[in-house]
Parts: sequence; structure tokens; C-alpha cells
Amino acid sequence: MRQRKLRNLDQKYEAYEDLIIDKPDETRGHWAELAAERMGCKGKIPPLYVEIGCGKGKFISELAEKEKDHCFVAIEGNKSVMLRAMQKIRAKGLKNVLFVPELAGDLSEWFAKGEVTGIYLNFSDPLPKNYWYKRRLTYRYRLKSYFEVMGEDGRLVFKTDNTDLFNWSVLETVAADLVIEELTRDLHADPELSKDNIETEYEAKYSKLGQTIKRMIIKRRVS
Ligand code: SAH
Repeated sequence: MRQRKLRNLDQKYEAYEDLIIDKPDETRGHWAELAAERMGCKGKIPPLYVEIGCGKGKFISELAEKEKDHCFVAIEGNKSVMLRAMQKIRAKGLKNVLFVPELAGDLSEWFAKGEVTGIYLNFSDPLPKNYWYKRRLTYRYRLKSYFEVMGEDGRLVFKTDNTDLFNWSVLETVAADLVIEELTRDLHADPELSKDNIETEYEAKYSKLGQTIKRMIIKRRVS
């Protein structure tokens, strides 16, 4: 049954070959160039943004639609979930999103130094058991690796409804010697901060259930 499921998924993936990057390590240093080629921009290299764990793609598809001059890389470890995200991009006729169907680890294996302008972590898995802490996407060494691939002005935007994960991530940010530029524990209650907010699938679901949405924007320390 599982074999058949996988075969079906592979067949479905064939229709999206132009959106998928199977060997992200081989694209290291050439992402924006590649995206520019696919976007049909002449001579101009667009700024590159990455979402880790794009889920069904509500966020990335709306952001890419709004920011047509930017290019986006959506990374998602769950292939069937990612299929839904690719369908959204295709339905909107967007050319500025590329997909990586893999679990992200050390980002510097896939992106060159300074290649990325911004990174989004939306509703990352909380992995609540203590011994899982290294797998959380906001673990201090992962945070450091994100800033290795971002330029001077790079920003990491992290949203979650999970209070424990959020508090832990604040401490990890400090431990990684990074700076919290902006922090809110109730994004939707702040008209100024939520003005340009794009809701993710989880965000819509959990805020409807009465959870507040926490967000922080992290930058590099300038000494
Ligand atoms: N961002 C979406 C989905 C959140 S659920 C939203 O806000 O609605 C978290 C997602 O991250 C899951 O789909 C999971 O498969 C994916 N994920 C978890 N760890 C990952 C990793 N290391 N690399 C890529 N995707 C990951």
C-alpha cells in the first residue's frame, strides 16, 4: 500500500518538475540566477527568500504573489504536503517559487554565504520532548547556520502559537548571540505589526481556536 502511495506521488510530482530542485547542494551559489532565468528577468538577479517547512503553501503562495520581483525557495520535508503547495503556485501561475522536497539541516550546505536575504519559520514543529531539542528549527546552532547564508541585513522571521517553543527560541536566539529586533506575543492584536501579515494554514487554524500568535524578527549583532 505504501509502495503504491509513493508511486502515485512520484507520478504526481512529474507535473511539477520545473518547480522542484532535487539537488539543492548543486544549486549552491546559483539560486537567484536560476530563479531569474525561470522568472524571465533579464540581467537582474532578484533577492532570495527561504521558507523552511512551507506546509501546504498558503503563506508562500500569497507572499510570492504579492512580491513578484522576489524569488522564494520553499523547503518541505513531507512530500505529500508539498504537493499541495506546488498546486497552489501552479494555480496562481507564479514563476518565482522553487521547491526543495527535503528536510533542511545545515543550510550552508545548500546556500552560499550571503546568498539569502530573509528566512521564514512558520509554526515549526514544537518537538516538545526535551531530548529532541537539537531537531527544533530554532536550536541555537541552526539559528547560526541561517545567518551564515544571509547577508549583513538578513532577517529571520519566526511565528508560532506555541508559548513553550517561543520562550525557548528567545533563549536560543540570545545563546546564538543574535539580536531580537521585534517581538510580539499577540500579533493579531497589534494593528501596526499585523498590517502586512500573511496568515499561514496553522496560524488561521490556531488563532480561530483562541491561541495568540507570537512572532519575532531576528537579526545579526552589529559590533
Ligand atoms: N508553515 C506551515 C506548516 C507548519 S507545520 C504553516 O504555518 O501552516 C511544520 C512543517 O514543517 C511540516 O509540514 C513539516 O513537515 C515541516 N518540517 C519540519 N521540519 C522540517 C525541516 N527540517 N525541513 C523542512 N520541513 C520541515
